[in-house]
Amino acid sequence: MQLSIIIPLLNEEESLKELHDWIVTVMQSNHFLYEIIFVDDGSTDTSWDIIKSISDANSNVKGIRFFKNYGKSQALHAGFKAANGEVIITMDADLQDSPEEIPELFQLIKTEGYDLISGWKKKRYDSVIAKNIPSKLFNWAARRTSGVKLHDFNCGLKAYKNQVIKNIKVSGEMHRYIPVLAKNAGFSNIGEKIVTHQARKYGKTKFGMERFINGFLDLITIWFVSKFGKRPMHLFGALGVLMFIIGFSFAMYLGIDKLFINTTGRLITDRPQFYISLTAMILGTQLFLAGFLGEIMVQSRTNETRYNISERVNL
Ligand code: UDP
Ligand code: MG
Repeated sequence: MQLSIIIPLLNEEESLKELHDWIVTVMQSNHFLYEIIFVDDGSTDTSWDIIKSISDANSNVKGIRFFKNYGKSQALHAGFKAANGEVIITMDADLQDSPEEIPELFQLIKTEGYDLISGWKKKRYDSVIAKNIPSKLFNWAARRTSGVKLHDFNCGLKAYKNQVIKNIKVSGEMHRYIPVLAKNAGFSNIGEKIVTHQARKYGKTKFGMERFINGFLDLITIWFVSKFGKRPMHLFGALGVLMFIIGFSFAMYLGIDKLFINTTGRLITDRPQFYISLTAMILGTQLFLAGFLGEIMVQSRTNETRYNISERVNL
């Protein structure tokens, strides 16, 4: 199997047949051995019936159906688990991504040796205010925090080496950051290809403005997890110690002042330093405890692997 094409979808009944036929045309003219995996993320329209009838007619077509809507990341994850191809392509079901890009993406992975190629919708056909401007900002922030130099993290059209998708876990709404997950898992040969983009032909977008809020929150999570996920004490412990030292210094100052210098002055509880000292010491202890709890959680996840094996011999 050369190619697995994974298509997550939610209520895209109008597009599925047309998309399938278009992909098949491209596959046949390039003589690819392929599979198409439709992942129905809890559609409430006739999408699943259409997938079943397409797969009756074409044995290369497979389908996975969720009980309910779990989100695009989960749909991709399920597709990744089922995929058998040497190269995995993901694309949206709404005909915005063009199957004509697949042969070139395949070559980039197969012969140029890239781990991951991300599509770049350089010329977009979405609304300017709702998508283009926020997405520029979002991509800029993602580049800065992750160090992965891509223009368009959220493009649905991407190509992966099989190893890559078998070694990453797409949780939450992390589909926007698969290139970052790949980089954190040790796949650094990440490239970009300008792809054509069409306006949505049928139906409407499944993500509203909340995509940007959720996207930024996920970005913070991914930054934190990749930097401190395996050693939480290094962040919380350091902050905790710093806070505690600040608080303790104020307490010392107040104590010395009261005992030896200004013995008849104001009550300690009337002085602002007292409150600074109190809060800083409490916060410091709390942060320190958070670090300890984090470490205990990391330690107890013993059966979860913290490494990715790239090859094996005699095993
Ligand atoms: N999608 C999905 N589950 C969801 C939301 C979306 O599988 O919960 C699919 C959707 O059917 C489409 C792709 O993800 O195939 C991209 O969604 P959409 O076109 O709505 O996003 P946009 O192009 O507006 O970024
Ligand atoms: Mg779309």
